[in-house]
Amino acid sequence: MQRSFMRRCARSGSSSDIAVNVRKNEGMKKNMICNNLSVNENGHLTFAGADTVEMARKYGTPLMLLDEGKIREKCSIYRDSMQKYFTPDSMPLYASKALSFKYIYKIAASENIGIDCVSAGEIYTAYKAGFPLERAYFHGNSKTDDEIRFAIGHGVGHFVCDSIEEVAAVDEIAGEMGTVQKILLRITPGIDPHTHKKISTGSVDSKFGVAIETGQAFELVEKTLRLSNVELEGFHCHIGSQIFEYDPFADAARIMIGFIRDVKERFGFEPVTLNLGGGMAVRYTEDDPEIDYEANIRDISVVVHSLCDEYGVKMPRILMEPGRSIVADAGITLYTAGYLKEITGLKNYISIDGGMTDNPRFTLYQSPYTVLLANRMNEGCDYKCTVAGRCCESGDIIQEDVMMPKPKRHDTIAVLTTGAYNYAMASHYNKVPKPAVVMLKDGEDFVVIKRETFENMISNEV
Ligand SMILES: *Cc1c(COP(=O)(O)O)cnc(C)c1O
Repeated sequence: MQRSFMRRCARSGSSSDIAVNVRKNEGMKKNMICNNLSVNENGHLTFAGADTVEMARKYGTPLMLLDEGKIREKCSIYRDSMQKYFTPDSMPLYASKALSFKYIYKIAASENIGIDCVSAGEIYTAYKAGFPLERAYFHGNSKTDDEIRFAIGHGVGHFVCDSIEEVAAVDEIAGEMGTVQKILLRITPGIDPHTHKKISTGSVDSKFGVAIETGQAFELVEKTLRLSNVELEGFHCHIGSQIFEYDPFADAARIMIGFIRDVKERFGFEPVTLNLGGGMAVRYTEDDPEIDYEANIRDISVVVHSLCDEYGVKMPRILMEPGRSIVADAGITLYTAGYLKEITGLKNYISIDGGMTDNPRFTLYQSPYTVLLANRMNEGCDYKCTVAGRCCESGDIIQEDVMMPKPKRHDTIAVLTTGAYNYAMASHYNKVPKPAVVMLKDGEDFVVIKRETFENMISNEV
């Protein structure tokens, strides 16, 4: 994973050589996973121009650093490419479940993109950040009556409805509140993005959406069109996450545009919006390929335009819902090394001051990550050890068998690409406070989420 970078690292001479190499050598840069990473003259890892060791000292650990420039760069790649290749009113919606806090909704607002929210809690956070909720899409397969009321009351522009019962509930509540709610219907296209060549019936079995294959999607459209307090704007699908190629999206588009043609034929209804969901991948390790998001969007758009022509369907406004690909490589997490445990003849463990409480993804999915010894970037990586969290669970591991210089107490350990689904999934297990989140922007660093205190954690306890 990070091995070949580390090997190069080991081979190089003085710290200044490394810095020069990083600047001059494109190959080296590539091995840094993302172009916001580098090594400075002290042999420290830098992120978005900041010395990570200094940041760890200044703010304490565990610490999440975010790169505002990178977040904005990704927003604008999606926004500009979608407007250019689909239609001028096409738009990305930031899938805010990936990382939801006030400041990021301010970024989304100023980048002129929409958001996807999955709970009243996310809507509330966006509302408090001053996000224009007309551009919000309310997702979820289990919206409660209170949440529906809350969302309508706060002027959420669009619901993405997941079932006929939900459409009926939204219709009833919108009626009570004297309004008409715009909605999309979530359709299951029946694609397994990992084996997308066999357009399988596998994902007909999903807790999300309504399937085309069973005929239920048509029933859903027919019933929805009869209701008067919901206005059907279009359709939504989401095929999965961490998808590297563009063709599963093109396959989904093909099925959805075919569905639009059939709906038009049967009911005379033609949608203005087609939402293709999220799921584009990011690089977690060197083994992952680099991704050209604009090229992917362009390639999907070619398929969409030609299918609309072929099927005699009016080109809809396209929405996409990137979450991971907006924030993942805009984030890294810093920890302080604890104790080194060498189990003779078996394995080495280095403990850290965080773990599954701030990053449960290895515990949940054995997710690969690149781990670096941030304060000793120029030393040889000849020591294999497993990075273990602090919780009372053997499964609390951040990464297994990492090659690094032999770590010692108080070293700074950096885990890369942690912006998405890390802090968002943080818990208070073992009563560990959630880390601080610091934003890096134009050479400045400032706290966007304060480190939790013990008092914060017990504030609701009587
Ligand atoms: C999770 C999710 C997304 C975001 O997926 P990413 O892989 O993070 O881009 C978008 N839309 C829906 C409906 C989702 O459930």
